[in-house]
Amino acid sequence: MTERRRTRLIVPVCSPNPEQMLADARRAVTAGADAVELRLDALPALPSHQLLRDLLAACLPAESIVTCRPEREGGAYDGDETRRLETLKNALQCGATWVDVELDTDPAVRPDPSRTILSHHDFDRCPPDLDTLASTLDAAEAGVGKVAFAADGPSDALRALDVLRNAGKPTLALAMGEAGVLSRIAARKLGAFGTFAALESGAESAPGQPTIHDLRSLYRWDEVTPQTPLMGVVGCPVAHSMSPAIHNAALSATGTDGFYVPLLIQPGWENFARFLDGIRRRPWLNWRGLSVTIPHKENALRYVGEADCDGLAVRIGAVNTITFQPDGALRGDNTDYAAAIDALCDAMGISRPQLDGRGVTVLGAGGAARAIVAALCHYGAAVTVCNRTVKRASKLAEEFGASAQPLEAAERTPAEVVVNCTPIGMHPDVDACPVRSLPPGTQVVFDTIYNPVHTRLLQLAERAGAVTLTGVDMFVRQGAAQFSRWTGKPAPAEVMRSVILRTPGH
Ligand code: NAP
Repeated sequence: MTERRRTRLIVPVCSPNPEQMLADARRAVTAGADAVELRLDALPALPSHQLLRDLLAACLPAESIVTCRPEREGGAYDGDETRRLETLKNALQCGATWVDVELDTDPAVRPDPSRTILSHHDFDRCPPDLDTLASTLDAAEAGVGKVAFAADGPSDALRALDVLRNAGKPTLALAMGEAGVLSRIAARKLGAFGTFAALESGAESAPGQPTIHDLRSLYRWDEVTPQTPLMGVVGCPVAHSMSPAIHNAALSATGTDGFYVPLLIQPGWENFARFLDGIRRRPWLNWRGLSVTIPHKENALRYVGEADCDGLAVRIGAVNTITFQPDGALRGDNTDYAAAIDALCDAMGISRPQLDGRGVTVLGAGGAARAIVAALCHYGAAVTVCNRTVKRASKLAEEFGASAQPLEAAERTPAEVVVNCTPIGMHPDVDACPVRSLPPGTQVVFDTIYNPVHTRLLQLAERAGAVTLTGVDMFVRQGAAQFSRWTGKPAPAEVMRSVILRTPGH
């Protein structure tokens, strides 16, 4: 790889004392860091010449970056500016590979420019004059340019990627915060100078920094090339989503090029459309697919347009899967409903059309219930919607040709199948159960909750000898269907399932 293309995995060490910093630098190298950033501003005092030598030796054979960030740029150093710059110059004399110097530092007193990372940070927002700033850094006398700013949404991460794409020299461009994670992982795709990864959770030097373990094991860092396709999950909140874990594991297990990231987009059509417009304007990103979760499923349908969405997804009013076709056109699907009814049909040993006439009670009348009720009614099942708010049950039932009852009536209403679409029994309320006893004639019970897997409702069903289906079955199927659409390969469903079951809380 050329110098421009070699994207370093940089681990910052912000240890509060010299002993800890020496140990952390060594740990960072062992964990696979290409460069260790020594954050001298985290120490109680500027280091002596000897300590500096020891710290730099602890970074070997990785590169070292010495930083002493002043308070004005979000760091912890509040001492004398001349002494700060002398320490950085001293670090270069002692063998540091790079020193980080802020753009607002007087050029006359900056250390050797060829070994300087010239940086600018904005912890409040994406700088309105980002393009100018990027050009200034690019033209400045410095080996490397760096800009890091707070991301309002993943659209800002796209702007950081633009900076990398347009840079004429080795550059770091990072959108900070949970909404900017994309910029940190895609940095390698764009040939950035580096990306920052924390030694462990809690040791981040900036918001949104993944750990080195997550970057390498979860986000497939070592596999990323300029051509690598992108995928992700759009939602708010999205940090809890299991989708990055299952999709990245599926990509690894099948040897498929790609990585999958969480994309935190605040509620609202404008925010959603801005990001989608942004990735469509940047075909060089090679975006392959998006999972869409609350609160953007309706926005996804609107954005893709009814004509390019699955018919039942249109009736449900929600798209959870966007596929980017090779010609750039979008396709919208709802793999939630398909996953739910296919899991149900498999458990019952029947095909979709054989749902015709079967009695199904659906508990709940929210988003999940809506998708499942629509699909069941579409295939002719006799559905009863039982919900705490009866008016909501009636509205849903009326729309798709089902009947409605209060939630308490569920255990009196005969049904061959019961599907729980309420969060009753979900962590942390694991002792709760939406019914005290199963309805008469129940043979199959499907709880869409996946945390915990074996809910109280499913325990009740097992005791009654009913066939049980878990929310994990549904979640894995909806993810597997997305994977196949985007990669053209069968999904490794068992790998995806085991990732969920290995996650604490399952
Ligand atoms: P939602 O739109 O908020 O709807 C929640 C439904 O549950 C509403 O009908 C609500 O009744 C009812 N409910 C909530 N708390 C209740 C309580 N304490 N007592 C009685 N009823 C209560 O949520 P959603 O998106 O449909 O999701 C519901 C559940 O489905 C989730 O918790 C999740 O476990 C599961 N899910 C699973 C998957 C999967 O892939 N496995 C996917 C999506 C959802 P009211 O109308 O009276 O408020």
